[in-house]
Amino acid sequence: MKSTHEYMETSEQYVLRTYNRFPIVLEKGEGVYLYDTDGKQYLDFAAGIAVFGLGYHYPGYDEALKGQIDQLIHTSNLFYNVPMGEAAEKLVKASGMNKVFFTNSGTEAIEGAIKAARKYAYLKDGRTDHEIIAMNHSFHGRSVGALSVTGNPHYQEAFKPLMGGVRFADFNDLDSVKAQVTDRTCAVILETVQGEGGIYPADEAFLKGVKALCEEKDILLILDEIQCGMGRTGSMFAWQEYGVKPDIMTCAKALGCGIPVGAFVLNEKTAAASLVPGDHGTTYGGNPLACQAVSTVLDLFAKDDIPGHVKALAPYLEERLDALVEKHDCLAARRGKGFIQGLVVNGKPVGEVVKKALENGLIVISAGSDVLRLVPPLVIEKKHIDEMIEKLEKSLE
Ligand SMILES: *Cc1c(COP(=O)(O)O)cnc(C)c1O
Repeated sequence: MKSTHEYMETSEQYVLRTYNRFPIVLEKGEGVYLYDTDGKQYLDFAAGIAVFGLGYHYPGYDEALKGQIDQLIHTSNLFYNVPMGEAAEKLVKASGMNKVFFTNSGTEAIEGAIKAARKYAYLKDGRTDHEIIAMNHSFHGRSVGALSVTGNPHYQEAFKPLMGGVRFADFNDLDSVKAQVTDRTCAVILETVQGEGGIYPADEAFLKGVKALCEEKDILLILDEIQCGMGRTGSMFAWQEYGVKPDIMTCAKALGCGIPVGAFVLNEKTAAASLVPGDHGTTYGGNPLACQAVSTVLDLFAKDDIPGHVKALAPYLEERLDALVEKHDCLAARRGKGFIQGLVVNGKPVGEVVKKALENGLIVISAGSDVLRLVPPLVIEKKHIDEMIEKLEKSLE
């Protein structure tokens, strides 16, 4: 067996270095804990970046995937398969939307959403110069299309020219969105809760205002629920907290709770007049294994009322975090909704806190340049919050 150091060396030698990784090698998970190759235990408040909503080895999840592996893993989209229809039906019923296209990642869900919006507008007016309004400090992915609507010049600079026809507005500033509308605008895209940019929930008046603007001008509202959706805010989808329904929604991360899968989901109006056979495709997307994961996740979320659990426990998490902010000068503020929370770190690099936390057996990550991000598995209990606070507090000293 290799040593931890040797595992890291092998990766550094052969894997393209696009990440500065923390110096631990994770080997297995159990419940809400992870273990590294030295057997050290970590309380996981990152969940693989908001992916492991159900934690590790949730009852019923592994069994369903193993059963599907024994049946069939892949078919291509030239044929029907059993789990795809079932997963789509459950996603439509959970969202009250109309049609689903499954992808392999969040980024691809964004790409599909952009294409659907452009096609919808094209069918209306035949123009090929439509524009999309996106938000500053947003994050929608790293492919060229998704990067083009990601409001972070630092990520974009070296990869220009990007996709044209994107205008940026300020999140939570309705007037700045209105100022970017032209007769070519086909969509507004935003995260219901900005994740990567530093955990900023949309203000209710802003989201309602954008929705009204979109309805007035027949502009499509694309809500990116890749990080904040799937129960994380205490509702199945964060927009349900606001009563503002999108025309197109993107999902990924916790959609498969560990299996790589995403989706873009269209409402009736958009589904009826956008993508048709030949317009869009994917070899893997919607494969039986990925869709079995989605189907099982949606069943388990409903059976055990995972969003309800988040809703019930979130006030306790917020109360404990607020007390921490009150007590420590190096914490300036808390922002968030449900189990997507950010602590603004003051006067020291957030990476330092993350490293100290790791030493203390707690996995937390950052968002933006100065925010500590907490996106735990949705199944954490009160005692895990207490353990997190204790370990985080030790890491701040
Ligand atoms: C992670 C994320 C994406 C990109 O998803 P990938 O699966 O990494 O491609 C897009 N939008 C938001 C809001 C995200 O958090």
